[in-house]
Amino acid sequence: MIRCPRCGAGSVKKSSAIYDQGISSSRGRSSGISYSRGGPGVWAGRNSSERISGAAALNASAGCALEVFTFFGVFVVALLIGFSIADDVASFIMAGPIAFVIAGIAALGIGMSQTKQRAASQAQYDRQWYCFKCGHKFEVDLDGASADSPGTGTPMRTTSGSGSGGSRAAYASRILSPVQRAKSETERDGTWLRTIAARANGEHRSFDPCRPTALDLGAVSRLASLGYLTYDQQTDMFSLSEKGAERVMKMAS
Ligand SMILES: [Zn+2]
Repeated sequence: MIRCPRCGAGSVKKSSAIYDQGISSSRGRSSGISYSRGGPGVWAGRNSSERISGAAALNASAGCALEVFTFFGVFVVALLIGFSIADDVASFIMAGPIAFVIAGIAALGIGMSQTKQRAASQAQYDRQWYCFKCGHKFEVDLDGASADSPGTGTPMRTTSGSGSGGSRAAYASRILSPVQRAKSETERDGTWLRTIAARANGEHRSFDPCRPTALDLGAVSRLASLGYLTYDQQTDMFSLSEKGAERVMKMAS
């Protein structure tokens, strides 16, 4: 039985399953809700299907939002430029198709540049679960060991972890007890520290080790051993320590 790591509730479900279910239930809704009875019966039905699709929307994968956004943004800008420089009716009309092609190329370019990151976020999405009680999203690695060692019997999952990302739990354990210890800071450590600092925000300088890209486990471990990173088990929060923030300031100056 899987429980929510934040509130302990058992009402958790895989995000992709919630999404699929929400999509099919809202499709079913359009074909057959009877409004003949009127009154509270109809409203109850309507509310419940809205709640399902709301949860489904929360549990959608990142998808192609960026490409769509790029396409329309570039399309509008290109169209406006086309209109402003058009000096006769023919070029005025041509501005539309030309803007469409330019926007298509821009969206394609963004899509290609996102391929690697998308694969990583898709893999993460496949492990994501959702808590209906508190709305917490968390990762569950159900088939970690079996997926890592297909048939060979040799455990592929190593504890050295250099050069690879992991789940939030893996990052947490590295910070609480760093496997890789750094005697002194290397240039690579500095680069990772700046990467983390760039995504840290809020008064606690908190950050997500898995987003937008997975951090290097070994680097996280080394930076934690230098006292630059902290993890709070109570709030499940990763943050840049006072010392880490000072180090980043020093590097920047
Ligand atoms: Zn919860």
